[in-house]
Amino acid sequence: MFQKVTSLLGPHKVFHPQSIDPTWLQDQRGRFTSLPLAVVFPDSHEDVVRLVRFCSAENLSLVAQAGNTGLVGGAVANGAQQILLNFSRMNRVRALYPQDRVMVAEAGCTLLQVNDAAKAHGLRFPLGLSVADRCCVGGNIATNAGGMNVLRHGMTRNLIYGIEGVLADGTPLHHLVRVPKNNVGFDVAQLFIGTEGTLALMTAATLKLVTLPQTTASVMVACDDLACAVSLLHRLQEQTADHVESFEIMSRDAMDLVVHHRNFSWPLKARTPWIVLTQIIFPHFCTPQEALPAIIGDLKAEHAVVAITADEQTALWYPRQTLPWIQGPSIKHDVAVPLSELPAFLASTQTLLMQIVPGIRPIIFGHLGDGNVHYNLLPPLDCPPEVFLARAPQLQDLIYDQVLRHHGSISAEHGLGRVKKNLYHQYADPGTLSVVHRIKQSLDPHHRLNPEL
Ligand SMILES: Cc1cc2nc3c(=O)[nH]c(=O)nc-3n(C[C@H](O)[C@H](O)[C@H](O)COP(=O)(O)OP(=O)(O)OC[C@H]3O[C@@H](n4cnc5c(N)ncnc54)[C@H](O)[C@@H]3O)c2cc1C
Repeated sequence: MFQKVTSLLGPHKVFHPQSIDPTWLQDQRGRFTSLPLAVVFPDSHEDVVRLVRFCSAENLSLVAQAGNTGLVGGAVANGAQQILLNFSRMNRVRALYPQDRVMVAEAGCTLLQVNDAAKAHGLRFPLGLSVADRCCVGGNIATNAGGMNVLRHGMTRNLIYGIEGVLADGTPLHHLVRVPKNNVGFDVAQLFIGTEGTLALMTAATLKLVTLPQTTASVMVACDDLACAVSLLHRLQEQTADHVESFEIMSRDAMDLVVHHRNFSWPLKARTPWIVLTQIIFPHFCTPQEALPAIIGDLKAEHAVVAITADEQTALWYPRQTLPWIQGPSIKHDVAVPLSELPAFLASTQTLLMQIVPGIRPIIFGHLGDGNVHYNLLPPLDCPPEVFLARAPQLQDLIYDQVLRHHGSISAEHGLGRVKKNLYHQYADPGTLSVVHRIKQSLDPHHRLNPEL
């Protein structure tokens, strides 16, 4: 079968898993390894159509992969019947229309690449992920990625006008809509966003662009409690007429981890339980130096650090950008809770966790502006990691139960993948599951696309 696939697309596009860079076969968190029949690197929409039709005829299935930075094991293919379809060679910015503020980019373009192209026109694609140099348009769309700038610009689905793709039976889909208004019944592009490669293979998309801001400022603020952080957010939104680009939070334990692992000095005079990091966009007629004193108002010197130059801002954001890489063995959760319920959610969850695992170390950080926190659990200092990790199902149930009691979501931005697919079936409303099942049956009845999800 491997030979047949090679003959279809040519040996320079089809590889045996043992002959490619193994990083494509290992998922980001090292929990899953792919061992597929073949790894295929198409370089055009037509290649993908041919491959899907071939798979349909030969009863093979396909798992899409773009930058392989996903955190839930969604881009993993295994077994003699599965092909891993890597989009990294489909990396052309096909067109950019500055007056329309639209770009057509292929699925394998990285976020960084897209933004470099837009920058030349004073524009940007405002999805804010720290792995912008690796994650790609196809993966961002398939996971409906969130990130730092959701507060102001929304999730990926708010930034896509149209898509080009291939359906499970090989039908090509040319839906590269270039206008924000296209009210013609079902929104086909939206149907596929966030479906993690289970309904269609995306080969390109039309992306919404916005103005590249000339001036930004970042502020780090020490907060005594979460309610104080939430009221700061509301105040900044009011003062800036919603020009708060991002509003992130880190717990004191999270900041301590950066201090400990990176030989970093505590960045504020006050050592409060919470640290807020926010970025504000300024119009060209108003400098941060003029406007900030009125905006941040009475925050005392020991409670805030302001960064205005690009270097100062990079330094201020360093702890937040570093945190995902230094947590070691831990049990991770990416959840969202309405802002009004977040303080109560955190308080009750902490109490319950301490009761069942005294000394447990929650590391909490994330996109507070959207109510999205990464609630990660580190073992007590005297507990071997493997003993602690064996308790993951019990601890996860506790956290998800609290999330649902507080009207939140068990997956805020990373998607379901292999990690959360069973959980979703456990927690989702039966009516919702029925709709999902019927759409899948109608578009991919033989489970040709990402069959494990
Ligand atoms: C340090 C770090 C920070 C992160 N921060 C964030 C964050 O702030 N917000 C956030 O949302 N995510 C974040 N992520 C997760 C990840 O970067 C996003 O999920 C991203 O959108 C994945 O893009 P990718 O190109 O790497 O996709 P991949 O990992 O390759 O694939 C992800 C999923 O999309 C499917 N897929 C990929 N390409 C296609 C295609 N062309 N057609 C159909 N399906 C496809 C795959 O099958 C898989 O199910 C972070 C990851 C890391 C490592």
